[in-house]
Amino acid sequence: MNDSDILIVGGGFPGIYLAWRALQAGMRPTLVEASDRLGGNLRSFRWRGHDVDWGAHNLDLRSERTRDFFGFILGDRLREIPDHRWGSLRDRIVTPGFEFPDFSDDPALCTAVLDEMTAIKAAGAAAPDTGTGWLEHYRADRGRLLARAVAPMVKKFTGIDPRGFDATAEAALGYFARPRLGSDAQMAQLKGSAAFWDDRLGVTLACTDARFVGRPEDRRFGYPAEGGIGGFGAAALERLQAEGATVLLERRVQEVSATRHGVRVVAGDSALSARGLFWSLPRALLVRALGQPLPPAPAAVRVGCRLLVWEVERDDILGPHYLHDFGTGRRAFRYSAPGTFLGGDAAAGLTCVMAEIPGPPEALAEADPEADAQRCFAEMRDIGYLRPKARPRATTSQVIASAFALPLRAGPGLARTRTETLPPRVWAPETGLRGRVAFMDYCDRRLMPEILTECATP
Ligand SMILES: Cc1cc2nc3c(=O)[nH]c(=O)nc-3n(C[C@H](O)[C@H](O)[C@H](O)COP(=O)(O)OP(=O)(O)OC[C@H]3O[C@@H](n4cnc5c(N)ncnc54)[C@H](O)[C@@H]3O)c2cc1C
Repeated sequence: MNDSDILIVGGGFPGIYLAWRALQAGMRPTLVEASDRLGGNLRSFRWRGHDVDWGAHNLDLRSERTRDFFGFILGDRLREIPDHRWGSLRDRIVTPGFEFPDFSDDPALCTAVLDEMTAIKAAGAAAPDTGTGWLEHYRADRGRLLARAVAPMVKKFTGIDPRGFDATAEAALGYFARPRLGSDAQMAQLKGSAAFWDDRLGVTLACTDARFVGRPEDRRFGYPAEGGIGGFGAAALERLQAEGATVLLERRVQEVSATRHGVRVVAGDSALSARGLFWSLPRALLVRALGQPLPPAPAAVRVGCRLLVWEVERDDILGPHYLHDFGTGRRAFRYSAPGTFLGGDAAAGLTCVMAEIPGPPEALAEADPEADAQRCFAEMRDIGYLRPKARPRATTSQVIASAFALPLRAGPGLARTRTETLPPRVWAPETGLRGRVAFMDYCDRRLMPEILTECATP
């Protein structure tokens, strides 16, 4: 029976980050992971001598917090990516430095949207009622025109009709709340406008692009020096153990129960106990492990992606390292040149490029991967991401079952899950949380203070 301050179930990014925070706070964490490695979705596989990442990932080094954390995990194996170029694309225009919809090629739309938003702000937008759909919430907050413009993009991003999402999907759909509305000059002007600074378009304007915020660009991204993005999980295992965390691999947690002094879990053939428990996976799974009744329909839908990878000549890649494609006429949402920043080539001059087609995993599995691969490759040439003469040397593809989960609108059965209470000293994130920085914010602001109050050794 292991006795620790906090049990962390799931060794993906959230579990690793929380274990680091717990160590910093002088706690004794135990991290329990079902597979034989840490990192969760941050993984890579070997293909034709390349370390190919499981989707487009990089390590954001823009804040002190992320630099501290990634520095702790990777130490001198953390490499900063030189000249990391991002872009977003709607028609054939690549806007550098962004990953949100760019409407600047439609000045009339931009002006009308900004007028709507000014009026909404003046009237004071009401907080959405519980049970509001995401699209209704977005419309009330940002106006009809913008809602109409982004709805098809959200459909492309998720593969699902956005009318079905609950307003709390906002946490995962943040891109669409940060449109670029206007030319560089207009955006710079907006920065100074009280109507839009910070609480309206603030996130956009705080994008650190020098043209908009008037300070040096600090777009900084890192990547593990070895093993592709999977090198992060391998390094995390070493570092957490060296700092005194207990890490148990190949132990799937099957049962969770509350005890008088905390929590007990059964994982594989071991029973573990602790003062508290954090479960990094969607709350509905924890509810099931607790033996609570599940609602008849799922409260959230999982969005996965079809990952397509091509081996190409390094010089074939003309576009940025990382490109979000908001054009709804094209298939892929995101293109990336994984590992090309730091090498990883099998043979001189060869590298990989990938595309992600998001959607519900079942629907993706039904689509023809070869047809998708041919279409996406042609589209990458067509938009100028690849040289017009580029030809793939080889192609591989797989469906990734889950990149994130989106909460659906509450129906009569679904409301019950939301109000279901977890036992004391048991925490699990809501399904809508997506991405690493979002988890860090949630952990530092809400989770860690609660865990410290309830579980730290007196
Ligand atoms: C293709 C793709 C692209 C993405 N792009 C981005 C991006 O651009 N930016 C971004 O910030 N985020 C991105 N994400 C999301 C990001 O990868 C995840 O938010 C992050 O990895 C955290 O994932 P997670 O730990 O919630 O889930 P996972 O990484 O899947 O980890 C959950 C862990 O729990 C383990 N587990 C499951 N059940 C049990 C059990 N019963 N007992 C013990 N262990 C268990 C699993 O084995 C796994 O290791 C992307 C994800 C994918 C797949």
